Amino acid sequence: MLILGVESSCDESGVALVEARGEGVPRLLAHALHSQIEMHQAYGGVVPELASRDHIRRLVPLAREVLARAGCAASQIDVVAYTRGPGLAGALLVGAGLACALAAALDRPVLGVHHLEGHLLSPFLGADPPEFPFVALLVSGGHTQLMRVDGVGRYETLGETIDDAAGEAFDKCAKLLGLGYPGGPQLARLAEFGDPDAFDLPRPLLHNGTLDFSFAGLKTAVLTQVKRLGPNVCEQDRANLAAATQAAIVEVLVKKSLTALRQTGLRRLVVAGGVGANKLLREQLNRACERRGVRVHYPELALCTDNGAMIALAAAMRLQAGQAQASRDYAFDVWPRWALEAA
Ligand code: ATP
Ligand code: MG
Ligand code: FE
Repeated sequence: MLILGVESSCDESGVALVEARGEGVPRLLAHALHSQIEMHQAYGGVVPELASRDHIRRLVPLAREVLARAGCAASQIDVVAYTRGPGLAGALLVGAGLACALAAALDRPVLGVHHLEGHLLSPFLGADPPEFPFVALLVSGGHTQLMRVDGVGRYETLGETIDDAAGEAFDKCAKLLGLGYPGGPQLARLAEFGDPDAFDLPRPLLHNGTLDFSFAGLKTAVLTQVKRLGPNVCEQDRANLAAATQAAIVEVLVKKSLTALRQTGLRRLVVAGGVGANKLLREQLNRACERRGVRVHYPELALCTDNGAMIALAAAMRLQAGQAQASRDYAFDVWPRWALEAA
């Protein structure tokens, strides 16, 4: 079964072709991605209207590219999958519209999938796919949550952020440090030259016993330091503040993940979403988990942030598990706000 996946929830246009055979882990045949980051950089963040318009320009060429790379004809596609939500409404509509138009033209069924389910399952495309059940740490630009995952479509939220997401915290603090968008990777790069102990930043909710997160206070603390240092701040202070910010975010993510593993008694952790690309987070999680005999699984670096492969994969795994049915109802709908547990 060949599944074409279309992702357009935010600022990445992604298309991919995945093959599902029997019960086996689906195989990625080809994927293509266009990041709009450069276009949005001038505005310091994603401009929804510009994002939608760019998806319109990119998705059809990307779909052609994927089919060519996979050596497949459009007529070989069995199901067309798209991101139904959550995300920017206009951007989602473009992907859903393309997916349904293509499916209607080919007389094939469509399936709308949950963007975070794509992130969560993306490690299955890696060299070391996990086994259920596991704890998932979902850390992206818009979400930060710990989930208990017992199987495809069996997701229980253990804790989540009560304000900013981890990626959002990276992005906002990076902006305060004068770095461009998206700030996560840039802040991480600056932090390499800094001393994380040079500033004492808060770790909100670290010891409150819950698995919830809060990052808004960290942003305020960084702002206070930026103001104190003033406009003539030296490079070393900026690097130190970046390192301290990264250390604070990472420490909270690691400690809460360990608490979730302890509370559930599970011995497997899956890390997904853009912040999962962070080197310090990976190092500290690997070290802590190794000591406890816990296996950690990550998506390939290129599949940490948004892509079409994870959407095709989520659709494939849903269909294999009998947890969804693709349909020929092309009157599509998008769900900009949609809890993963409800998927
Ligand atoms: P969501 O999936 O919640 O809708 P999103 O799709 O925008 O949000 P992703 O594409 O998964 O989020 O991830 C983007 C986020 O990951 C950004 O906030 C970015 O700064 C962050 N990020 C990417 N690479 C790194 C890194 N190396 N270190 C820290 N943060 C990173
Ligand atoms: Mg993005
Ligand atoms: Fe995402």
